[in-house]
Amino acid sequence: MSTGACHKNRLSVIHDDTNYRACRLLQEENDGIDADVRLTYDISVSELDNSAVNTVVSFNLANLLIGALLAALIAGIARRFRSLTISGAIATVLTGTIVFGAGQFLFAVPLIFFFVTSLLLSRLKSPRKSQASQYGQKEGARDLWQVFSNGGTAVICTIIYLITGEVIWFVAYLAAVAEATADTWATEIGMLSASRPFDLITLSKIDAGLSGGVTGLGTFASLAGAFLTALVGGVMYCTVSGNWEALLSMILVAGVSGFAGGLIDSFLGGSVQGQYRCPRCGKRTEKRRHCDYSTELTRGFSFVNNDVINFASTVAAAVTASVFSG
Ligand SMILES: [Zn+2]
Repeated sequence: MSTGACHKNRLSVIHDDTNYRACRLLQEENDGIDADVRLTYDISVSELDNSAVNTVVSFNLANLLIGALLAALIAGIARRFRSLTISGAIATVLTGTIVFGAGQFLFAVPLIFFFVTSLLLSRLKSPRKSQASQYGQKEGARDLWQVFSNGGTAVICTIIYLITGEVIWFVAYLAAVAEATADTWATEIGMLSASRPFDLITLSKIDAGLSGGVTGLGTFASLAGAFLTALVGGVMYCTVSGNWEALLSMILVAGVSGFAGGLIDSFLGGSVQGQYRCPRCGKRTEKRRHCDYSTELTRGFSFVNNDVINFASTVAAAVTASVFSG
């Protein structure tokens, strides 16, 4: 795939036009000196012939309808499992309709992977987990804000891809979905951990279920979630475009960006996110009320809740991926 000296040490083999032109100039010089010394180029995601993908990804009414039906089916199943509130189900149908309508299966499959695995993991119950989940701001079914905070960046990237047709927006999309998966897996699996999480900033042990807490098990789940989502999206892209040489770089860029976004999530969750203390029982919590008392802000900002942090982290993952790809 790569013998080009120009980009040997790049984590991503995606490079921009300037780099590409520099390579060409170098090659032309070499052609003049020695015909046997030829540079070949890295296969870059941005250089790939994207026309195969663009014919698959186009916007029309039929796609919107298929998207709406598919999303309604998934939201309906989630409602049966009591994993979504009514507003969460409506947000899911909206998200699914736009993503499928604009990006079809290429974009829809990674999102479905995130959604279905999150749904299944939320069904994993243990006494430790129910103990841990009571500290969070929201428990049980996800509402509209939780759905949009996880899927909003993905929707924006899908729409920009539809307009520009640039692969970089698919990679950014994939990183945002990988981050949402990483964060959800880390939370759902991390709460099963036998050891208490430690705060990423103070490095002290904290109660399970509080934002900013990190466990070894949760970190492993985060890595697995990010890279499996990246694998699913990468395989989808290569199947549609027919170019399998992009697979490794796509998995690396989206996986690393998604995992990094998950770390940013924990960092922000332990610093700027509002955390409160119950005046009655003294427990730290993310709830505004506890034991029927109004809680007191002890850290962060009251307007920064978990949804804000989740949205910021998916944006961070998408930006990281586009920097790698730039
Ligand atoms: Zn209390």
